[in-house]
Amino acid sequence: MRLILLGPPGAGKGTQAQRLVAKYGIVQLSTGDMLRAAVKAGTPVGRQAQEIMARGGLVPDDVVVEIVAQRIEQPDARKGFILDGFPRTVPQAAALDRMLAERNLALDGVIELRVDEDALIKRIERRIEEMKARGEALREDDNPEVLHRRLKAYREQTSPLIDYYRDKGALITVNGMAPIPEVAAAIDRALPAEPAIGKKSRRERR
Ligand code: ADP
Repeated sequence: MRLILLGPPGAGKGTQAQRLVAKYGIVQLSTGDMLRAAVKAGTPVGRQAQEIMARGGLVPDDVVVEIVAQRIEQPDARKGFILDGFPRTVPQAAALDRMLAERNLALDGVIELRVDEDALIKRIERRIEEMKARGEALREDDNPEVLHRRLKAYREQTSPLIDYYRDKGALITVNGMAPIPEVAAAIDRALPAEPAIGKKSRRERR
């Protein structure tokens, strides 16, 4: 099973990704997590990404594309993966298409978690307050000002991917404002019973 999770920050991508990982025995590839690990380790990529991430911008396409290309080569990704936070721009999506085509792999679906932006801001602000109250460490980009910039980056650079994947016949839109179990059930209903590994995409079968 090869899936993409698409949605603005705070839409619940991580929650749904974890469940799909358990259900299908696939790996979650979060470019946000990979970049945070690079920042922590102080690698050249990390040094390049740190400031951009802290201010809520997008790391250059060639950097994230290279990270993903290396990651999907790892043995644990052979059974399938769920991309969380990638692609985030149209050039990243085009690069992913090339990567998959070279390996004769197809996507099984692109799940769009559709959410209302105002409700989302409230949800994330509440999450930040709860984490602070519990004394948990916040991410450097977990503050209202940076959040607005991350939402803007989503609106301007990532949301065009909704049409991109709809045109390919791969888009599955679910209501991300529903309670978590309902979001999960809607995703399950929409996913194909059989993975598309080594098969043609839905559109090509038509
Ligand atoms: P979110 O909470 O928005 O889902 P992530 O953990 O996915 O955040 O990403 C955090 C930050 O990492 C982003 O704001 C961005 O700076 C950087 N980042 C992650 N994935 C990408 C990507 N595919 N392209 C560019 N930048 C990325």
